[in-house]
Amino acid sequence: MPAPVMAEKTKGSTIYLANGQTLIDGIASWWTACHGYNHPAIAKAARKQLKAMPHIMLGGMVHQPALSLSKALSDLLGHDLNHVFFTDSGSVSVEVALKMAFQYWLNHKEKRPHLLAFKGGYHGDTLATMAICDPEEGMHTLFNGILPQHPILPLPDTTTTQRKLDHYLSKHAGEIAAIIVEPLVQGAGGMIFHTAETLHFIYKMAQKHNVLLICDEIFTGFGRTGDSLFAFEKATIVPDIVTVSKALTGGTMALAATIARTHIYDAFYSDNPQHALMHGPTFMANPLACSCALASVGLFSSTPRLKQIAVITERMKEKLDPCRHFPAVKDVRVLGAIGVVELHDIPDMKRLKATLLSHNVWIRPFRNIIYLTPAFTITRLELDSLCQAIYKTLKQLY
Ligand SMILES: *Cc1c(COP(=O)(O)O)cnc(C)c1O
Repeated sequence: MPAPVMAEKTKGSTIYLANGQTLIDGIASWWTACHGYNHPAIAKAARKQLKAMPHIMLGGMVHQPALSLSKALSDLLGHDLNHVFFTDSGSVSVEVALKMAFQYWLNHKEKRPHLLAFKGGYHGDTLATMAICDPEEGMHTLFNGILPQHPILPLPDTTTTQRKLDHYLSKHAGEIAAIIVEPLVQGAGGMIFHTAETLHFIYKMAQKHNVLLICDEIFTGFGRTGDSLFAFEKATIVPDIVTVSKALTGGTMALAATIARTHIYDAFYSDNPQHALMHGPTFMANPLACSCALASVGLFSSTPRLKQIAVITERMKEKLDPCRHFPAVKDVRVLGAIGVVELHDIPDMKRLKATLLSHNVWIRPFRNIIYLTPAFTITRLELDSLCQAIYKTLKQLY
């Protein structure tokens, strides 16, 4: 692995390195910095909250940033997705979603020990979430045989795989607490896209066989897939539980949320204390992080973000398209503010990374994928430079 470069300062879509080199950021720190780095509105909210109360425990106490953010998220998600549980990382928000799903059934006097996930999926790095990542392609192959076993089926995007899912659930629904899916785009698993119809089919199967549906929007949430703030909206479905993180605070603080519908919440709310959800991270709903998130979420209504994303989509389609001509390139695809150049394979990753860096861009290929997930505020010039850097790199190396 090449040695890490020393970052010193950021602004907008620029990263300033200690050695004086400046980089255009193509991936917005794993797509968290969706409004660009150091956004003044988020910085202002952070300063104000830092002065008033950086942190307070959420046990027996509540605070306005948490209440306001819960309300804002429920409003954005719509329907009855109006019960919000805050944690401090994406993986843990998925853990909470899984725990909710298992206990939902337990509280209904049913023991359902399994989850159903999909090949190509990625849901986190903790032990429970590793077990629902793609077991062969994922980064956790090493742990096969150690992790709990859950059914991992192919995405139902053909009649054969649709029948397979339906058939599996007809036999095993009684053991499955929930289906979990990254709606429309499987991110860390390889930037694999599926259609709204496929997502809708998964929803229909969950309904037909009476299992819960969890949409992991940690990658796709907050406009990344274009046209709507959340990917699930495009399939006109309502998941039982949604997880968000990554872009939630605009890339400033670690924060995640698990949002559940009313019938999920109601299963925990009773006179029986054993029915309560026993989960309480120390930094749950950290006020500083909640304030940053409120400012970030607010920017989606006070600025034309979805329009900016549409412009990015068109530009990336145009500017990444020439990469198709290289025989080493297998596919070029764009959705929302996600641009992907998929190669047949990347034999020398170190050299590829070094060459990209020599073009003064920050792009982090993985497996056989070169991808862009820029800030929505990226300028046309910056975006063109990113696409050109990929083109020039391919020309140099392949
Ligand atoms: C990044 C990611 C996670 C894990 O989030 P962390 O904050 O890294 O724990 C889970 N699910 C999806 C879809 C992700 O993209």
